[in-house]
Amino acid sequence: MNCSENNTPAPDYRGSRLFKKLRHGIGKAVGDFGLIEEGDRIAVAVSGGKDSYTLLLLLEELQRRAPVSFELVAVNIDSGYPGYRTDVIEGFLKDQGCHYRMVPSEHYSIIQEKRRPGSSYCSICSRLKRGALYGVAQELGCNKLALGHHQDDFIETLLLNQFFVGSLKSMAASMLADNGVITVIRPLVYLVEEDIIAFSRQAGLPIVCCCCPVCGTADLQRRRMKRLLTELQSDIPHVKSSLLKALSNVHPRHLLDPSLRRVPNDE
Ligand code: SF4
Repeated sequence: MNCSENNTPAPDYRGSRLFKKLRHGIGKAVGDFGLIEEGDRIAVAVSGGKDSYTLLLLLEELQRRAPVSFELVAVNIDSGYPGYRTDVIEGFLKDQGCHYRMVPSEHYSIIQEKRRPGSSYCSICSRLKRGALYGVAQELGCNKLALGHHQDDFIETLLLNQFFVGSLKSMAASMLADNGVITVIRPLVYLVEEDIIAFSRQAGLPIVCCCCPVCGTADLQRRRMKRLLTELQSDIPHVKSSLLKALSNVHPRHLLDPSLRRVPNDE
């Protein structure tokens, strides 16, 4: 979806089949991975993109329906890229009646100063943003941080690590962060990007551009993985769901990592 789209939210998305499908997907992820527990206070990272808005709306819906009680606080980190419309994001959060925290930062200046020529913008930018999110989540008394990665992100990351890093690794649906305090959760793991794009259009989400210098051109390798998956899908329609399933069906003895040799028989 065009990241400069900026519409007024449509109020009636909750009754749509698509929203119910997404709600089912997030509910299944929460159940399968035990993502949300009674008394959780969850910081939800909201960047103004389709994924994070969708995550927030689905978690709010879950909050209304779930048998457990939990709290949500939306958190936006402004990396300081000129033109980033935090006012649009804040307006949306206000309209939704969310608890939220808008956090300005000096990340852009830090990146300009510290980034080595030719090195990736995204890696330093996302590292800084993640660090800030952990800090704010802790400050807000949250024990969890929800991120908007979806099924396609999981699969593309799996392929990227195999193709370019030589590592068999994707992302976890739930993982204690390195700070030992915040658990990062990814409730959109079962949702496909195509559905999220369709939903964000249907709901008229006020998508804002991140306005970073590499916006729209970032991560060429990831785009190659997307293209590859789209091509494969025409021959193997279930290729994405099969790759995602592979992540929860690991046979360590049939891999080559010496540290896995002591794993009991997995057949
Ligand atoms: S696309 Fe831009 S905002 Fe997003 S991680 Fe990369 S540099 Fe940062």
